[in-house]
Amino acid sequence: MGDLPRLGLIGLGIMGRPMGRNLLRAGYPLVVRDLNPEAVAELVAEGAVAAPTSRDVGAACDVLITMLPDSPDVEAVYSGAQGAFEALRPGWLAIDMSSISPRISRELAARADAAGAELLDAPVSGGDKGAIAGTLSIMVGGSDEGFAQVLPILEAMGKTIVHCGPAGAGQVVKLANQVVVAIVIEAVSEALVLGAKAGVDPHKIIEVLQGGLASTKVLELRGPNFLAGEFEPGFRINLHLKDLKNALEAGREHGVVLPVTAEVEQLMQAARVAGRGDFDHSGLITVLEDLAGFNVAGALRG
Ligand code: NAD
Repeated sequence: MGDLPRLGLIGLGIMGRPMGRNLLRAGYPLVVRDLNPEAVAELVAEGAVAAPTSRDVGAACDVLITMLPDSPDVEAVYSGAQGAFEALRPGWLAIDMSSISPRISRELAARADAAGAELLDAPVSGGDKGAIAGTLSIMVGGSDEGFAQVLPILEAMGKTIVHCGPAGAGQVVKLANQVVVAIVIEAVSEALVLGAKAGVDPHKIIEVLQGGLASTKVLELRGPNFLAGEFEPGFRINLHLKDLKNALEAGREHGVVLPVTAEVEQLMQAARVAGRGDFDHSGLITVLEDLAGFNVAGALRG
């Protein structure tokens, strides 16, 4: 195990914490940082070492991993004062696993490249359950050589690991994923509110839909949320809203019209304005319920 690279991990939230735990289990030496001292203390108790700034984490590791909320957080951690790029050196590797704007990803990758280092983008899907089980799907943008170097590290956290193309390509695929998931959540929300308000038991609607072309992982994994009216995250509406904003920005950059994505972004915005930004994204159904003046779970309870 002596020749395993030293890893850094910045961002120990819902996803980063279990991912860090899996890296420790795989035997990697790990240096960590988060704004939340409790998250740091948890991983230190399991064998990680804490560092006071992103620059210190970058300097202490061969490969830095970041798992942060959005583009400004990632920019701050790499390019801000005492950021990880202050430790940039030839041969150094970074893997940003946050879901951020592909444009920002490409800009940061270009800065690393200019210093003889590489920053790969490697956003994930599979949620907190996948992060805990080490079965995430990971979509990677970067060079062939960089991908080959980081693959064993990613294998400690994920199962389906796909090299999607050069820098930014992983983020583009993640946006494609988020567009589909958001539109499907909106579609099943419409279907359930329509069916239930028309007097049909929503359990029956889900049972029938899941047997045919309309079947979807969204109903398999989030069906219980819709039926109970309980939206503990999971994946927060605020984060999904961020992904749709980034998808619309990419659409503008590349001249692609995303009409339904734009509508669902506005509905998610309505959920946020109503104080539901920290609901799981399946909580989007509450906006459709408000518009229909009907509550699916409430009707089931009688
Ligand atoms: P989170 O908000 O739970 O965690 C983010 C962590 O980053 C927090 O602990 C926060 O303190 C830390 N942080 C923020 N700014 C920092 C800074 N400047 N320096 C150090 N630490 C900082 O978010 P999450 O759910 O873990 O998601 C992380 C990323 O993964 C997001 O881009 C999200 O879209 C993506 N993602 C999340 C899920 C999910 O199910 N939660 C699934 C797939 C992808």
